[in-house]
Amino acid sequence: MEDSITHGKKQKYIFVTGGVLSGVGKGITAASIGAVLQAKGLVVSIQKCDPYLNVDAGLLNPAEHGECFVTKDGAETDLDLGHYERFLDVELTQKNATLSGRLLSQLIADERAGKFGGKTVQLVPHLTHAIQDAIEEAADSDVHIVEIGGTVGDYEGLSFVEAIREFSTRVGRENCLYVHVVYVPFIGTSKEFKTKPAQNALNDLRGFGIVPDAVVVRTDDHAPVNVARKIALFGGVSESAVILLPNAETVYEVPLSIAACGISDVLARFTHNTVKPNLAAWKRLVRQHTSHPETKVDVGIVAKYLDNEDTYISVLEALKSAAWAEKVDLTISWIDAEKATVADFAAHDALLVPGGFGPRGIEGKIAAARYALDHDVPYLGLCLGLQVAVIASSRKAGLKDANSTEFVPTTEQNVVYIMAGQQGKESTGGTLRLGDYTAHLKKDSKVATAYKSRTVTERHRHRYEVNQAFLGDIERGGLVVSGTSPDGKLVEYIESPVNEYFVATQAHPEFKSRPMRAHPLFQGLIRAAKLSSIA
Ligand code: GLN
Repeated sequence: MEDSITHGKKQKYIFVTGGVLSGVGKGITAASIGAVLQAKGLVVSIQKCDPYLNVDAGLLNPAEHGECFVTKDGAETDLDLGHYERFLDVELTQKNATLSGRLLSQLIADERAGKFGGKTVQLVPHLTHAIQDAIEEAADSDVHIVEIGGTVGDYEGLSFVEAIREFSTRVGRENCLYVHVVYVPFIGTSKEFKTKPAQNALNDLRGFGIVPDAVVVRTDDHAPVNVARKIALFGGVSESAVILLPNAETVYEVPLSIAACGISDVLARFTHNTVKPNLAAWKRLVRQHTSHPETKVDVGIVAKYLDNEDTYISVLEALKSAAWAEKVDLTISWIDAEKATVADFAAHDALLVPGGFGPRGIEGKIAAARYALDHDVPYLGLCLGLQVAVIASSRKAGLKDANSTEFVPTTEQNVVYIMAGQQGKESTGGTLRLGDYTAHLKKDSKVATAYKSRTVTERHRHRYEVNQAFLGDIERGGLVVSGTSPDGKLVEYIESPVNEYFVATQAHPEFKSRPMRAHPLFQGLIRAAKLSSIA
């Protein structure tokens, strides 16, 4: 690694664990520590270890668990990998997402294949070693960050906690840094922050043999320093290694908060790198995000999961990046696909239909695409958003039964149908077209203009696709194919040649958007929305 400042030194590891409760920003903390280290000139790699028994995140309910993030090599992962990619501007792979289920199924397969030579196969040492091997395999940097999902003490996570404790014997304690993220609630009735649950969480961690090097204290509001003092005292860490992290206006503030507090000395000592992090780009980003430009744009997302914004987190982040790039004040409105009416579609400057599976709310999404097509409302369709647009234009051309066989398996006007070779596997995991695929774009198409390129690669996660036998009808309805797979067999992009901006893709471009580098298709939508909001 020629560009690494610590070239020749040993690989360092930072383990980020959580206490009290999950969902308080452990992933953002891990990613932000990585961003600060990168800004010091270090090469950073990062990994999520999830103790649940699933083999991947593909079959998890997104309403409960948040978005399924897809990597370039087609791994279906936890949404934290999206935070990591956005904060560190890297592209991760299956190696960066380690799940108990994946490791256990390999262990059991190895046991069946007789690879253990008659030994008893046990959680310790066999699973713990498998975890450690997975960590070493993913580490390819100066500093490798490992986030452990859930909270310390969870029954299913014990092997992971033991694995990272032992890890310091494997690579040397001086090469491991343990960061514990705890939550401190504010009790409204007595008007005080309560540190007891955090103290207990630190005791739990110590009970498993890990003394943390730093503690990140998440609070909803700014907490007084005596909270840090108390935690330092009871947690056995120095006060300067306790960082108070209240809710931020934007998550992109967190690297700045981390760099500004005592933990940056801990990181400097640990990495033997005293370079002051260059966070100019992050400062610019936060300034953009917290400024509210005069031009206002309202994008309506037509979706079925409305209770948990994490379900569409990469889409939301991609819209925000595009809004910053176009200097508009963005409002994102949720349109319930199951109840939407024409009045709901008319109330926005642009419409977006994100990816989705299953029939619920599908007619509302088709109606949204039809409304945008008919009324020249800027439209971006992502995966299912392309499929509903194709159904809408086919119906407009007179095919009144046009549908996807995902929703009406028996329709003869199957303008969206299942891929050849995939029939019969619809209900099992792992039969989707996943990960990076390249597309060729038509010359002078809206998408080629937006991307400034005629060859593009995006991530995919779908099973159904456009049935090219109906291309004539789709075109009569107002949409043309503007990009295909290199062999021309699969439709990858469609657009309206006459509308200002009606673009849809079979891919998920949201996964490649970055906070500091807006994705051209999202930026195109926001630019068009800006024009229609001014008009
Ligand atoms: N359900 C559709 C398919 O399987 C779309 C998937 C998606 O939007 N990710 O092709």
